[in-house]
Amino acid sequence: MIGKLKVNNTLTKKKEVFEPLNPPHVGLYVCGPTVYSDVHLGNVRTFMSFDVIYRYLKFLGYKVRYVRNITDVGHLLDSGEDRISKKATLESLEPMEIVQKYTNDFHDVMATFNILCPDIEPTATGHLMEQLAMIDQLVDNGLAYESNGSVYFDIEKYNKENTYGKLSGRKIEDLLNQTRELDGQDDKKNPLDFALWKKAAPEHIMRWKTKWSDGFPGWHLECAVMSTKYLGKEFDIHGGGMDLQFPHHECEIAQSYGTYKKEPARYWLHTNMLTVNGQKMSKSLGNSFLPKQLISGDHELLSQGFSPMTIRFFMLQSHYASTLDFSNEALIAAQKGYFKMANGMRIIKKMEFAENTEATIDEKQKEQIEKFCDNCYYAMNDDFNTALTIGHLFNILKKINAIHTGQLSMAAIGKETFERMKSTFISFNEEVLGIKAEDSLPGGQLLDIILKEYQQAKEARNYDKVDELRSALKAGGIVVKDMKTGIDWAYEE
Ligand code: AMP
Ligand code: ZN
Repeated sequence: MIGKLKVNNTLTKKKEVFEPLNPPHVGLYVCGPTVYSDVHLGNVRTFMSFDVIYRYLKFLGYKVRYVRNITDVGHLLDSGEDRISKKATLESLEPMEIVQKYTNDFHDVMATFNILCPDIEPTATGHLMEQLAMIDQLVDNGLAYESNGSVYFDIEKYNKENTYGKLSGRKIEDLLNQTRELDGQDDKKNPLDFALWKKAAPEHIMRWKTKWSDGFPGWHLECAVMSTKYLGKEFDIHGGGMDLQFPHHECEIAQSYGTYKKEPARYWLHTNMLTVNGQKMSKSLGNSFLPKQLISGDHELLSQGFSPMTIRFFMLQSHYASTLDFSNEALIAAQKGYFKMANGMRIIKKMEFAENTEATIDEKQKEQIEKFCDNCYYAMNDDFNTALTIGHLFNILKKINAIHTGQLSMAAIGKETFERMKSTFISFNEEVLGIKAEDSLPGGQLLDIILKEYQQAKEARNYDKVDELRSALKAGGIVVKDMKTGIDWAYEE
């Protein structure tokens, strides 16, 4: 079971069992952000989804090389202007200042949501030589041509022996019909041809001198170059948001295949969109939420702030390939779920198996718990289904709580099952899903001091004080529990 991943192969639309090209190594490439503006929650959803995929593959023992790039040049707006160039001009800054500012912001956001750093984070401007070399190779292979200082990929030529559009299931004739009306660019032989190198307009500030012109690389080129440079001409998994499938990934395949005569990625995984009232969250639509707005609650659609782990839990409660609609109610529900899970984690971490030789083993309970543990693997093996995994973890949680409250005897499930339950619950939450206790929640030293005071007041039978402390803590979302084993606390669910 372990190591046999069914991964939904969107290239063939078949469910296949995942086998890396060079086990135990796995190459994973994910298209990173274009660093010209704040990261919104839609972007976070995509990077979080691949974070869990990366985590799970590592958890299974694969040696994963995770490459996630930074796009710092070449991603154009519909108007044809470079996003970073435009922002730099508007703010009278050096383009690299814009790049640095938003790269820092991106890293901060990733850390806030416990999203792991990739193993390599290459930038487009750091790989210009390699991009120029790929353009030369494509020209030599007869698949690219120069026109008026720009260089374009020749879709018609490529399509003589290949199928442009196979990843997204688009037909070239349909694409041509749609594009002709919109696009009247004279430089190209064919409106579907895309730029590998673009001659810069005089006002364009990000530019490099080459034999073709003073210009800049096309956006699709960087990922074809950097993925194959670090992961090989053929590698295991390529990911990104669904909106990158066409044309970005389609063009990537065309360039890599056109250069090396090899399909670059064996599995293409696409995350679905985070929506707001059914509409894709996007900066240009004006419906995007910044992470900091969600955390502070400073938004008209929110009744309160939500912690990063609540937001992480909310996102992982749906499968990455399904759309996820954002709402205040869904976040409130996720908060309850997260608190339940966090309470369970605190309880199980403190629990140690106590041997009781007289106890009889309850085979039914034991079997159930073993099955719940297996199910966590099955769910993740089936195309990284975090939604189902969380459901199975809740089943385990019920058993943990039953032991905690004395309804189920720990001894009755035996040491082996107890230890498996404990390690599965903790590792799937922390290592695989990246769910952890939050420091910002009042669980630290201060709480211990208050609880000590509570205990002293109880011992002194000072019930006014006991009530006062109890309600003050409740107002802060903490419930005091008088257990047989002493005073305990939990987040209010
Ligand atoms: P960008 O910086 O715009 O290229 O986006 C970075 C990543 O976020 C890409 O993989 C996009 O597909 C993804 N993305 C953008 N908007 C959303 C959204 N609303 N939901 C999920 N992913 C998104
Ligand atoms: Zn890309």
